[in-house]
Amino acid sequence: MSKRVVVALGGNAILQRGQKGTEQDQRTSVASTVAQIVKMIDAGYEVVLTHGNGPQVGAILIQQEAGKDKVPAMPMDVCGAESQGFIGYLFVQEFKKALIAHGIAKEPLCLVTQVEVSSEDPAFANPTKPVGPFYDEATAKARMESSGESWVEDSGRGWRRVVPSPKPINIVERQAIQELADRGYVVVASGGGGIPVVKEADGSYRGVEAVIDKDLAGELLAQQVKADLFMILTDVPKVALNYGKPEEKWLGKVDLDEMKGYQAEGHFKAGSMGPKVAAAMAFVENGGSRAIIASLDQALEALEGTEGTQIVK
Ligand code: ADP
Ligand code: MG
Repeated sequence: MSKRVVVALGGNAILQRGQKGTEQDQRTSVASTVAQIVKMIDAGYEVVLTHGNGPQVGAILIQQEAGKDKVPAMPMDVCGAESQGFIGYLFVQEFKKALIAHGIAKEPLCLVTQVEVSSEDPAFANPTKPVGPFYDEATAKARMESSGESWVEDSGRGWRRVVPSPKPINIVERQAIQELADRGYVVVASGGGGIPVVKEADGSYRGVEAVIDKDLAGELLAQQVKADLFMILTDVPKVALNYGKPEEKWLGKVDLDEMKGYQAEGHFKAGSMGPKVAAAMAFVENGGSRAIIASLDQALEALEGTEGTQIVK
């Protein structure tokens, strides 16, 4: 039986540093990402893909702000859904091309995905995740007063809206994702960490203004679709101790207890490597056999254990 792997893609999988973000820029990046993922499928792995959406949802938020006098602005959960559809569409088209070129008879498919969070999550009392563009002080203060949004000054670069980043507790569409993967579809799901929703008393869901970390949502997705492996692909080849310092040390195979020690020593930055290491450790802690953090261009090698950081029990 083929092994199921959930792959969480970072920002560089859709937009490279220095690119403007045109449709063609993003399509080109997605095509080279897909070329890496198709190697895994060709090697016999069953892949479920998830991805970030920071720059894309940022652009959609700018469009809301710029166009709000002509057409109504949409709330953040709707913007998140738009970004999942747009990014998923690019992936599905580029996947199909690559699968045809490899002679693989599989269908790619994108699922707009909601991820449940708790309305009691302490993050709601303490918004920390910056979203969207930078604004001047006057605009930020006006938005704060008119809407009750939280805004912060970001190290001299201007003002930015911050939203809560609650913990994902359930992938709402998990069963559909699992069944589609069982039937052989290449599923793209839970983009941007999923659309954050809270459950109502009657069992229905309501969107909230928040952002879920895509690595933590990816881990939950991996658990809930019973993946054998969980892989986070980013723009560095491995996880490092003393990252960026003269005594920097890149980590290969590390067991859970050793990684816990490094985490406690503060080697992994909040907002970048921190959530990746936390998500990878959680997957192994929850019974997964191996979690991998590696660079996108070494995806298959990392999956086979010769590159990247491998976290094992
Ligand atoms: P992604 O878009 O893939 O989620 P992030 O920028 O959030 O990417 O996280 C990857 C970045 O984490 C790397 O480019 C690197 O600069 C940074 N980083 C912070 N701490 C470490 C560490 N200990 N080891 C490796 N990279 C680290
Ligand atoms: Mg990130």
